[in-house]
Amino acid sequence: MIDLHTHSVFSDGSLMPETLAEKAAEMGLSALALTDHDTTAGVPQFLAACARCGIEGIPGVEISADFSPGTMHLLGFFVDPEAQSLQEALARLRTGREKRNRKIVEKLASLGMQLEWDAIKVLAGGDVVGRPHIAEAMVNCGYVNSRQKAFQRFLRRGAAAYEERYRLSPEVGITRICDAGGVPVLAHPFTLGLSFRKLRACVADLVEHGLAGIEVFYPEHGAERRSWYTELAKTFNLVMTGGSDFHGAANPAIALGRGFGNVFVSDSVLVALRERLLIGC
Ligand code: AMP
Ligand code: ZN
Ligand code: FE
Ligand code: FE
Repeated sequence: MIDLHTHSVFSDGSLMPETLAEKAAEMGLSALALTDHDTTAGVPQFLAACARCGIEGIPGVEISADFSPGTMHLLGFFVDPEAQSLQEALARLRTGREKRNRKIVEKLASLGMQLEWDAIKVLAGGDVVGRPHIAEAMVNCGYVNSRQKAFQRFLRRGAAAYEERYRLSPEVGITRICDAGGVPVLAHPFTLGLSFRKLRACVADLVEHGLAGIEVFYPEHGAERRSWYTELAKTFNLVMTGGSDFHGAANPAIALGRGFGNVFVSDSVLVALRERLLIGC
């Protein structure tokens, strides 16, 4: 069993990359990918820890792409953290986040909720500050009684303190992952918010630009979604990947490797991913 979708303190997860590796080894996982949002900063220490724990570590990243009506995330597996064009793109994404975060904090202030920027940075721990950290700060200051409420009332798209941020186009996201020697995969397709017919057209377009895989096994994917995405994988010859999207205490309902208990990703997925890696983009 493996897990190809996890987050550490370098984005909005609560565990250090080393702890993720140790936990995975304790559980008996044979391979683990670190896929932090918009950064590969945790990858070197993650790979070293995986080697120490005797499991296979896969360097990864999760990139936010520009898309509506929903949200598009692209996973890149086996990316080279040293690759310059990827790092430039990730740096632009992080700068865009920083600008957006400051605007959100300003909007919250105008709504009567003062937050200390430094306190939010401390909550973020690593290098990427996200809305979940702002939500946590709002709970800590007593402005809302749960992070869920913070999103519902203020931070979700369209809510009073929401702000857009710079994102890469899906094509550029895929290209940057390819440039870094990685395998580009569409994460949790249901968040695109498309009907199956529209999703098929969208995937066809992404495949034209080099998409190589689709995340089929995921906590929020029931049998019906899994079968849709499996059909798309067959149609477009995509690798079917999967993972828990583990964030640690930041999302305690999700277990590493198992999601809500409904995720199981076989070692054979990694074999297929490696084959795709050999073919290249
Ligand atoms: P950001 O990348 O900073 O825009 O934050 C996105 C993250 O916020 C996602 O990965 C989720 O973990 C979280 N998130 C987004 N929308 C919601 C929501 N409606 N309720 C709770 N968490 C959310
Ligand atoms: Zn996250
Ligand atoms: Fe995601
Ligand atoms: Fe994720």
